[in-house]
Amino acid sequence: QGTTVAKFAELIGVPPNDVIKRLFMLGQVLTLTQSMGDDLVELIADDMGRKVRVVSPEEEYAVVYHDKDEDLKPRPPVVTVMGHVDHGKTSLLDAIRDTGVAAGEAGGITQHIGASVVEIDGKQITFIDTPGHEAFTAMRARGAQVTDVIVLVVAADDGVMPQTVEAINHAKAAEVPIVVAVNKIDKPGANPDRVRQELVEYGVIPEEWGGTNMFVEVSAKQRLHIDDVLETIILQADVLELKANPDAEASGFVIEANLDKGRGPVATVLVQRGTLHPGDIVVAGTSYGRVRALVNPLGKHVDEAYPADPVEILGLNSVPVAGDEFRVFDDERDARKLAEERALRARLAEQETKSHVSLDDLFSRIEEGKQTDLNLIVKADVQGSIEALRDAFEKMDQSEVRINIVHSAVGGITETDVTLASASDAIIIGFNVRPTGKSKVQAEKEKVDIRLYRVIYQAIEEINAARVGLLSPDI
Ligand code: GDP
Repeated sequence: QGTTVAKFAELIGVPPNDVIKRLFMLGQVLTLTQSMGDDLVELIADDMGRKVRVVSPEEEYAVVYHDKDEDLKPRPPVVTVMGHVDHGKTSLLDAIRDTGVAAGEAGGITQHIGASVVEIDGKQITFIDTPGHEAFTAMRARGAQVTDVIVLVVAADDGVMPQTVEAINHAKAAEVPIVVAVNKIDKPGANPDRVRQELVEYGVIPEEWGGTNMFVEVSAKQRLHIDDVLETIILQADVLELKANPDAEASGFVIEANLDKGRGPVATVLVQRGTLHPGDIVVAGTSYGRVRALVNPLGKHVDEAYPADPVEILGLNSVPVAGDEFRVFDDERDARKLAEERALRARLAEQETKSHVSLDDLFSRIEEGKQTDLNLIVKADVQGSIEALRDAFEKMDQSEVRINIVHSAVGGITETDVTLASASDAIIIGFNVRPTGKSKVQAEKEKVDIRLYRVIYQAIEEINAARVGLLSPDI
């Protein structure tokens, strides 16, 4: 995007007129306020004996947060509930939310925004509402570290199960402490001690047995000992001495986002540092915008969101993705620049990895309605083979997929053929010819399917088979 002539002159410390003269000598007539492209910036700087490097907005706006100790204030814990399916994660969260609402703002009804806040003895706990491991793993894969404590739900009548172990492994990998909620103690077959014993094998050891894990026995269904769960989380959080700087521009992660019919793009973010206000300019992944309103989990508009607060942001220009980082910017142009560059790069990356059609996935593509034409590039040793193939294709039933020969020629498969195939989403058919030069490597890189045959009928048969496979079995 470059910079203006005036700004460039200032940056490299030369009189603006000198820059204009240089530009003029290169055939570029620009005024002070006009913009020089990146190429021109590098060229002129080099010409004037300055070394400049044009950095991407991503680099330009990269930040490392560093807070002085005295700026750090205690903050509430953020908790995720995990455990095997049907062990009671959802029930426990519901029970906790009910308890919490009673203790929280009067008259509030918890909205499903992806996170909720409860209070116990005047202390806040934030729960990420999406139970399960996928959400957690997906967030972690994107570098988002949002959880301080994991509540591991284990049904007392069922014990340690595969997803229990998985949750333990996730918690360990993320170095997040585990509080165990032994659930369903109301059930006749409940055996909490067996759960303790089984967990020891996986390194989750109760405090009373000399370990570091706090255990609570609960019944989510009968609302038994729900307060204990909350108190235990607070105890665990106290050990962690969680802190954050509230007096900074806000940053954190997107927990959930969607397009709301009435309100437009809505993102629930978890503030991790600083304080977020309406009117702030925010970048979240590839989205940006000025915060029109902040809505808390009780559906109320708020004027600020502090560290560990989940809050809905209204006013973004598009819907970000869960796990995206969000950050407040001073300048709307900077925010837009960064968001747009990210969006552009995301689109490029998507195009790069988009694989082209192959005979193997031809029918699944047609079934999905993604493929109505099959483009072919035919290379052969003699012209006669090309003609024979063309005739055979013309006789084929083309009602489901139209076969187009976008290019045919005598000779080996070249890099140009691969480029053409990539551009036109075509399969390359070779008769008694081979890929030459680097075309094979290039085809692998660009995910272009090359099929080599020695006999014509074999080629026809294979393409027919792929095509016949498209027909649904009931026809
Ligand atoms: P999730 O898959 O881990 O979210 O589990 P759910 O919360 O959906 O619970 C699975 C089933 O167990 C549901 O039928 C619940 O009613 C039942 N359940 C959950 N907690 C308890 C409990 O404390 N006692 C009893 N008896 N049943 C429970």
